[in-house]
This record gives sequence, C-alpha cells and structure tokens, in this order.
Amino acid sequence: MNFDTRALARMTTAIENRDPHALASLDSLAPGHARVVGITGPPGAGKSTLVDALARELRSRGKTVAILAVDPTSRRTGGALLGDRIRMQDHHADPGIFIRSMATRGEPGGIARATADVARLMDAAGKDYVLVETVGVGQDEIAIAGLAQVTVVVLVPGMGDDIQAIKAGIMEIADIFVINKADHQGADRVELELHAEGFSCPIIRTIATEGQGIPELVGQVSDLPSRKKTWQVGNLPHLDHLGIAVNSLADSLPFYQSLGLTAHRESVPQEKVEVAMLPAGDARLELLEPTAPDSPIAKFLEKRGPGLHHIALRVPDLAAAVAVLKASGARLLNEPRTGAGGHTYVFVHPASTGGVLLELIQEHSQ
Ligand code: ZN
Repeated sequence: MNFDTRALARMTTAIENRDPHALASLDSLAPGHARVVGITGPPGAGKSTLVDALARELRSRGKTVAILAVDPTSRRTGGALLGDRIRMQDHHADPGIFIRSMATRGEPGGIARATADVARLMDAAGKDYVLVETVGVGQDEIAIAGLAQVTVVVLVPGMGDDIQAIKAGIMEIADIFVINKADHQGADRVELELHAEGFSCPIIRTIATEGQGIPELVGQVSDLPSRKKTWQVGNLPHLDHLGIAVNSLADSLPFYQSLGLTAHRESVPQEKVEVAMLPAGDARLELLEPTAPDSPIAKFLEKRGPGLHHIALRVPDLAAAVAVLKASGARLLNEPRTGAGGHTYVFVHPASTGGVLLELIQEHSQ
C-alpha cells in the first residue's frame, strides 16, 4: 500500500477519531514489514530526545520511520510536545519520517487501541520502523508497550527510588535497557541495580543529546529476535454472557425481570433453542429453552437439570484464539461458525476449561 504523507496524516486522524470507515479500511490493508519498537520510561529520562536521535540514525541508514508519541499529559501541558515535534517535522521536511502525537481521550483503554491501530496503519503503509514512545506510568502504557516487538526501557542516573516506583509492570517488559544521560553521575549504580534485580537483557548507555550510543542501540533494536506482531493491544477477552439452561422461559423470566433486567427474545433454529438475552452491566445473561428433544439444551436438561450451561468470552480475534487453543491441545467442539447476530463462535469442552462449557465469540463490525 502506498500512501503519500498527506493521505497518511488524514487516515491517522480518522483512526484517532475512531471513524468507522477508516477502521473498516484498516482491516482490508495488507500487512507490512515494520519493526515496532516501544520506547518507555519515566518522565525526565530524555525519551523524546532519544527517539529523535534513533529516528535520525535510522534515516541515515535509509530506513523509513514513524514516530507515535503517546502523551497522556499533553492536554494539560497545552501540547508542548506536539508543537516541538511538528517543528522538527517541518524543519526536516523529510517524507521518510512521519510523526504523530497521540493524546489521550480520557476513555480507559482508548489511547491504547488508537495507538495500536495507527501503528498497524504505519506498518501497512510500508514504514520500516514504527517507534512508539510512552511515559511508563499507566496501565494503558504498559499495554501499548506490549504492542511492540522490541521494548526499550529508558532509565537515567540519579533516579533513586524512582527505579523502584516504575518497576511494577514496566521493567518486566524490557528487552533492552537504556541508561540515558550516561555522563551524569550514578550511571554505574543504575547498571549495578539492574544486575542486582536479576535483569539480564542488554544495557546500553547513551547520551541522546550528542548521539552517543545511538548506533549501538539501533543495532540492538534491529538485531534482537522480535515477538510476533499483534495489533490487539488492550483488547483482552471480556465476559460476554452466561448461558443458563431452563425448562421454560415463561417460568424463569419473571424472576430476572423482577430484579429489573429486561429481556430480548430470539429463536436460534440451528441450535434448536429459544433465547432470552438480559443485559447486565457489560455482560448478559442468556436463558436457553429447548425447542426440540434433540436440542443440545434438551439433552443437558435431561442429564443435569436446569442450571449454568456455559460461559461466553468475547475475543478480538477468534481465528487467532482457536489457533492457540488447538496448539495447546484444548478440546474444541466445533470449527468456528456464524451465529444469528453475524458473530462467529466456537465451543470448548469442559475437560479443557476446568469444568464448564466455554463459548468463545467474536463480534464482527459490519
Ligand atoms: Zn451462549
């Protein structure tokens, strides 16, 4: 896929705005060959300077680069970061580099999803490297770092107790540690501390403002074996519904309705059931009444009586989940098939799940 910079900028904005057409066309793009590199660390570690130095080094090697700077504070600081970056981009006027500041929208997980989608767009647009820069403080940012194939955690001398503070979550995802501002006092101590904590990944000292250590860092970032690419960041399985086998909807529904739940009825001929769906928070209850003696629900009622029949998890990518389950030897009861609402689903045998029939479903956006 070939994009000029303007088209790419337009599409990026549309994806950030969660425009349904842009998101749908994202699904139709062929994957590229980009290496996605996460760069994270506490505020003040000099990440932006480091990322700019990395980008410059990669450009000098003829590589195309996208920089996605995720700044959860940019709203409050009036977008200083964004301003700087745009100036840099204008100054260089280099079509081989694309820079975008991703500002948070306040919706939990929203920035992680948008960043993953924009990174995917940059991959499809043929960039060689996608550098995703985050401040390593929040859960979203840990999720974003999880999107990267190689994650660089940037530390600085003199952080004192800060190294303890950021340790939870962020330190563990590091593939490479950078000790930036390595000319400052205390660089040795940071390195010793990393060894003492048992981290064994490469440690590179840099002085980003002077470009020192940057070629070594580019070498490591390019040579490290990378994780499989995923764009599913922050999109983990969710509880979708609990399926309850009942002898009669007419007899069972009033109880749930008396709790204030409302039912949406439908027939599912292929499963020979009559269904009442009752939204309850983010999940639903699914009451199932058999419509024929050979319905799976009829057989369940005969054997076990009314009760919990299955639980259903919604997954972002059913085909990927099925591949993982098959590889792990889980017992699937069917190949993915399409249900009434256009969603696809698969059942996993209770022997593989700890004793309950599990339904995995994927909703499809039209
Ligand atoms: Zn179900």
